[in-house]
Amino acid sequence: MKLRSPVDALVRANIRALEPYHCARETVQTGLLLDANENPFPRWYDRVQLNRYPDPYQRNLRQVLATRLGVTSDMVLAGSGSDEVLDWLFKIFDLSAGVALAEPTYGMYRVLADIYDVPVFESRLDERFQFSADRFLEEIPAQIRMLIVCSPNNPTGNLLDSEEILKVVEEWDGVVVVDEAYIEFSGRPSLAGEIARHDNLMVLRTFSKAFGRAGMRLGYVVAAPALIAYLLKVKAPYNLNAWVLTEGVKAVDAAAETSREVRLITCERQRVRTRLEGLRGVFEVFPSDANFILFRCRDAGGVCEELLRRQIVVRDRSRVPGLDDCIRLTIGNPEENDTVLRELADVLERK
Ligand code: PMP
Repeated sequence: MKLRSPVDALVRANIRALEPYHCARETVQTGLLLDANENPFPRWYDRVQLNRYPDPYQRNLRQVLATRLGVTSDMVLAGSGSDEVLDWLFKIFDLSAGVALAEPTYGMYRVLADIYDVPVFESRLDERFQFSADRFLEEIPAQIRMLIVCSPNNPTGNLLDSEEILKVVEEWDGVVVVDEAYIEFSGRPSLAGEIARHDNLMVLRTFSKAFGRAGMRLGYVVAAPALIAYLLKVKAPYNLNAWVLTEGVKAVDAAAETSREVRLITCERQRVRTRLEGLRGVFEVFPSDANFILFRCRDAGGVCEELLRRQIVVRDRSRVPGLDDCIRLTIGNPEENDTVLRELADVLERK
């Protein structure tokens, strides 16, 4: 099979050859629509027309996202959360030799590797949870084709050094996926701006965090048009429903609300951090560029259990290798933060 670009070589041969499902409305979307076996009657109570299938190419939403990002719409594709986008990556790339993960990181990457029976190559972050390009390039086995890094990283909270990530993008011939689910809380620019120069870089973003739309299920990937074309081949034709396609555009436009909330959350992050540092039994509070804080305390597992008994749900990360006695705490609203700090202080006092 003829390869048009170097990234084609990273894609599984069957996906390169795949003839995707075609809808009759690829070129024409209006007129007498008698192609898709729909019910022709719109319901009076629908605010978004639901008797018709949604646009499988997400044209409007992709255009709005692309304009916002300063890229072209053939460089963007949206999924039902970035979790769906991650799933596509495991479908299109040849991962028979494995996937590289910068651990400790978001657990879903490993779950997907297990689902697709892909071996995981662990590239451990250093003691400050930083990623080193030189170390990665030195240790990565030759046949591995994909690295996923998360920046700011979940659950550690810190931004990874973008120079190090870009060094791998430049010097390695695999694909580098940067999950920027929490980037808005870091105040730093997205690496999406680098994609025009690097066709082996993919950036994942989501509406679930700073944009406050977790219930909507909307995430997207920014990548070279050649890679987006492969993702389009494997995605279910109507993966995003008509409501989310409409509301998603509104969410992109709600920049003022989003930045106001992000400012509030980052202020609260500083306040919670200072309070945590003052608690007896808290040994270490890690720096955070996200909307959560990772901290180490006495008997983290027991603390989480006791908090749960008090109807407070936090994330026990104490069994994650390298994160013994660590808890990940999401920054809530000021009242919620006061409550968790008060209860945590009480639980730790009793330990
Ligand atoms: N990436 C990271 C790093 C996350 O923490 C999460 C959510 N916990 C996701 C992706 C998934 O987000 P979404 O809601 O867009 O599927």
